[in-house]
This record gives sequence, C-alpha cells and structure tokens, in this order.
Amino acid sequence: MSGPVDDTLLEILACPDTHHAPLSYDAGAQTLTCTECARVFPITDGIPVLLLDEATGGPGPAGTGTADGAGGEER
Ligand SMILES: [Zn+2]
Repeated sequence: MSGPVDDTLLEILACPDTHHAPLSYDAGAQTLTCTECARVFPITDGIPVLLLDEATGGPGPAGTGTADGAGGEER
C-alpha cells in the first residue's frame, strides 16, 4: 500500500488538544479522527491539518447534542 500518509507519520501524530490522544486515519475520507474527543482533522495535499480551528466534530460549541442554555456542565 502506498497511501499519502504513512504509518510512521501517523504514529507521531496526536490530537492538538490537551489530551494528545492518537488519531485514526481514514484513507477514504482523507481525515484524521481523534480517538479521545472525536474531532475530525482534514488532510490537505497529504498534510494533516492538526489545528483545533480546522477540526470538525468533537466537543466544540458547534451544536452536537445537548440543548444549550441548560446551564449544567456535568460529565
Ligand atoms: Zn482530541
């Protein structure tokens, strides 16, 4: 196999968030998904864009799930 992102690179990649969790490579979608926070990072021209600003999904404010304004931040 000769993907644009090789295993050696993937091994050193980590989520830019504080947990620095390993990332799961999706060769079809050309994305990297954090195994901890589920953020999805794009790969542009074979270069992983590991920026929280560029990530989609995950626990960000961009509404996944819970109703906002409820006031509770329990986990
Ligand atoms: Zn993460």
